[in-house]
Amino acid sequence: MSDVTTTPPISTPLTAADRCDRCGAAARVRADLPAGGLLLFCRHHFTEHEARLVDLGATVSMPSEELV
Ligand SMILES: [Zn+2]
Repeated sequence: MSDVTTTPPISTPLTAADRCDRCGAAARVRADLPAGGLLLFCRHHFTEHEARLVDLGATVSMPSEELV
């Protein structure tokens, strides 16, 4: 049962193809949910949803921060 595919570790960098789930802008922040979901946000929408993500126990990373 250990070969069931699970959520990959947080090591995949965001690319130009990654888009904010809310508005379609380039994603700057990814949030991995403990339930297994993955959300992508632009900076604007991350700020808007940050409290909710913390509430959900999401693991937030900003892998492209320094590339902007
Ligand atoms: Zn957005």
